[in-house]
Amino acid sequence: MRPAPDACEPCLTVDLDALAANFHAIRARGPAAETAPVLKADAYGTGAAPVGRRLWAEGARTFYVARASEGGTLRAALGPDRPARIYVLDGCPVGAAPRLLAHDLVPVLNGLDQVEHWSLAAPRGGRLPCALHIDTGLNRLGLRPEEATALADAPGRLNRLDVDLVMSHLACGGIPDHPMNPVQRDRFVAAAARFPEARKSLASSGAAFQSQDYAFDMIRAGISLYGGGPFDAPDPRIVPVATLDAPIVQVRSLRPGETVGYGATYTVDRPLRMAVIALGYADGVLRTLSPGGYGWLAGRRCQMLGRISMDLIAMDVTEVADAAPGQRVELFGPNLAIDTVARQAGTVSYELLTRIAARVPRVHLGETPE
Ligand SMILES: *Cc1c(COP(=O)(O)O)cnc(C)c1O
Repeated sequence: MRPAPDACEPCLTVDLDALAANFHAIRARGPAAETAPVLKADAYGTGAAPVGRRLWAEGARTFYVARASEGGTLRAALGPDRPARIYVLDGCPVGAAPRLLAHDLVPVLNGLDQVEHWSLAAPRGGRLPCALHIDTGLNRLGLRPEEATALADAPGRLNRLDVDLVMSHLACGGIPDHPMNPVQRDRFVAAAARFPEARKSLASSGAAFQSQDYAFDMIRAGISLYGGGPFDAPDPRIVPVATLDAPIVQVRSLRPGETVGYGATYTVDRPLRMAVIALGYADGVLRTLSPGGYGWLAGRRCQMLGRISMDLIAMDVTEVADAAPGQRVELFGPNLAIDTVARQAGTVSYELLTRIAARVPRVHLGETPE
């Protein structure tokens, strides 16, 4: 592994070759569909610029972001030689149109109000491209199926727009065989049929790995690109992409009866060697990871001791005889699966990744096109 940019500080290492392997593994789940990477939240914390450029080199031509501002940043990172289609999942809220237009972004329209806002931004006599989001049961964003039907029945309301994609999102895509999945699929098929010219998209990572019945024309691939299993558990078809590690700052010996950390929540019950590593909740490590969490050092799992503090975590390294300051401890990566660590913290891999703080430098391995 390439050394961290600063041997004294934590680092998030992102393996772009592994990312590319996951992209192709997802693509194989829907050979007739396009696989469109979801790069919202700075590519789930892994760095949207290098990730977007590498995925373009791997053949990706359509990307998704959540916010128009993210779309602008991605457009600049891709540059004029990579004219990707960039869909914005927030769509066109009031006031968003100028920014969408300025960066050549395509909104995923989530309601009749957004259809109107985007239509008003169309040039006189011209049309603007858009996607339509139909809510088939998640009840988050999107037109209700009956609203979509009403829209299709009143083509005048769409005469300033080109609907090139109709999409929906599953509530239980990460839960295989959940009965809600086929129900949403049926609703989607019925509502989307009213827009015969548009491409169709329903699957994110989870549904893509459930069945090809969900692939339609486009898979919107997020978490599994970045190494998270499609079902919130490690999956042999997905390789780890991101590694979080940090150096030991100090090693000390503790005596029985002493306590460790804020709140004195851990009491030492035997002679113990403890390492303190330069990583804490200000770096994005959830406090709920301790007790119960581990670091990986010299081939061993080392248990966290006491509470995680802002900049430091204590770990039991009694079994690692030569543990010393400067050695790097892995928090997740090839040896500690991100889904397993997320479960220990009471969350999902998505949150673990997107919480890694800006103060943690990102290092990208593998070919990184400029
Ligand atoms: C985030 C998101 C995705 C990607 O989901 P993953 O589970 O990360 O693959 C796809 N579609 C929509 C609408 C999303 O918000």
